[in-house]
This record gives sequence, structure tokens and C-alpha cells, in this order.
Amino acid sequence: MGADVYHRSGKMVRRDALLDARPDLAPVYDAVDALFPVRVTSSWASRAVLDDHADPLALQVLPHPAELDDDGLDDPVGEKAHSPVPWLVRKYRDRALLLVTKRCHLYCRYCFRRTHAPGEALDPTDAELDAAFAYLAGAEGLREVILSGGDPLILPRRRLLGLIDRVAALGLRVRVHTRAPVSFPEAVDPDLARELAGRGVFVVVHCNHPRELADDVRASLATLVDAGVPVLCQTVLLAGVNDDPAVLTDLFETLARLRVRPYYLHHPDAVTGNAHFRVPVERGLAIYAAVRETLGGVALPRYVWDPPDGGGKRDVAPGPDRAI
Ligand code: SF4
Repeated sequence: MGADVYHRSGKMVRRDALLDARPDLAPVYDAVDALFPVRVTSSWASRAVLDDHADPLALQVLPHPAELDDDGLDDPVGEKAHSPVPWLVRKYRDRALLLVTKRCHLYCRYCFRRTHAPGEALDPTDAELDAAFAYLAGAEGLREVILSGGDPLILPRRRLLGLIDRVAALGLRVRVHTRAPVSFPEAVDPDLARELAGRGVFVVVHCNHPRELADDVRASLATLVDAGVPVLCQTVLLAGVNDDPAVLTDLFETLARLRVRPYYLHHPDAVTGNAHFRVPVERGLAIYAAVRETLGGVALPRYVWDPPDGGGKRDVAPGPDRAI
């Protein structure tokens, strides 16, 4: 997936170290890695128990034999029909998603964007970005552009800020979706936080388990919040990771104490290779109901799903329309 900065700086756990911890993965490691790369940052590894088969942090990043099962689900949230130009998705009148890269510091095994065709480009070309911005400039009703990916914080800082400035120059609000403060907290420093705050950028991080909130992650989040960046969090409900009301309650309460607003609890999107993370909707509803009994206000996120029909996020609710 390219020579990433963090890779060159040695902040990533090497393949042999991962296989030392989990020799049972040797038969599938390379095949899985070829489909969707295995990348684990040193920071993440320091919080995970890699040789524990049930560790919720290890499960999120280590390859799994089930990833080799192809169930043909390659457009899990229905984006293909809503992409007017490459790298851009517009499902809502007021918001558009600009995918600024496909690279991440760490690859989450459940990711709904895990379907990469072999040899496909990992970053938009300048011409593709020009086309995306031409679309944004002419789009009626747009209020906000979400920079996502991949992880926008893996981009060189000047490139990231340049993209933000191009969006802002169109008079649109900017939101950045990133797992970096949690997956690679070194990506955040006071200078970046100042630059983001000065541009009025909202940051939405992604965190699934309270043990992800180690000291370096808390410091990274505090750097953003202290600079005045509004920070929200998305969580994905994942079997074996956080499908437990006590875990989610702890996570959401801790985030609120860190001044990070729990925003969405996502029902897991079904994509090829992530079947082992899926949770039945009835179970998800029961878990959310239990969380809601003890949490409310700023600590309680909305429980949503993003169906393959491309219709956009909606609340998970009991009823016939729940083919998740
Ligand atoms: S950081 Fe985000 S985009 Fe990257 S693998 Fe994880 S969930 Fe997917």
C-alpha cells in the first residue's frame, strides 16, 4: 500500500512480530494481506494483547480466515449509484463525501471500505481532484464536505490543509473523519490542532472499545479539544469487540469525560470478508436499549445503519425493514 510515512518511521509492527504472537495465522496471513493489507501501529499493539484470540483490540487488526470468504458484498452502503465523479459520494442534499485517499495508518478488519481491487489507485490524481471540486462548486444545496478515506490524516499536512482550504473557499463547512488520533496518535500535534481549529474544522474520530483510549490517545484527543476543535466519535458495533452494554457504556461515558461527543453507534455494514464481526439486529437493539437505560444526554450516540440501498443513514428500529 505504498511507503507510508509512519511505515518509514518504524511505528508499525512487523509481519514476523505479529506471526510470533499468532503463529496459527501463518497459513492465511499472506492471502488476507493481499486482499486487504494487515497494518498494526506500535501504539495500537501496545494496547492490544496480540496473542489472545479473544482480545477486542487484537481482533480488530489481525487477519482472520473468514476474510477469505467471498460473499459478493462489494457495495455495502450503496455508494456506487451516488458517486457523480470518482472519489466523491453524495447521498444527501446538504453533504458530500470526498475520499482523499484509500490509505490508513492501521487497517481495521471489519472496514466497509475493505474492498480494494488489486492494483487500483490509492490516491486521487490532481485531475480527479479537480473534477471533484468542479462538481462541488456547482452542486446546489450543499453545506458541508466530509473528508474521509482511508484516513485523511495520513496525507502530508500541506496537502490535507490545502484540501480543507479548497473546500472552505467554496463557502462549505469541513468535517474530517479520521481514526488517526486513536490508531496513530502521533499524527496529531498542537500545530495541526491549531490549523484545524483556525479553519473551523469538525473532527470525527472512530473508537470501538474503552481500552483504545490509552494515555497517548487521550493526549491526542485533548490536543484537538484544547485547541478548540469540535471532536465527535463514531463507534461500530462489532461481534466479539463491543457487543456488550457494559463495554459500550464505559466507552461512551469515557469519551464524554474526554470531551469527545459520542455521535453514532453504527450497526456493522456487511461487506465481503467481515462476516465474523456482524451482529444480528435484534441483538443490537437489545444492547442499545440496555445502554440507554444507564446513559443519556451528550454521552448517548444514535444507533444507525447505512443500508445497501444507498438511501443514507437511518435509525435502527424494530420492524420489517431491517434486512441488515
Ligand atoms: S481507519 Fe477507517 S477507513 Fe481505515 S481501515 Fe479503519 S475503519 Fe477503514
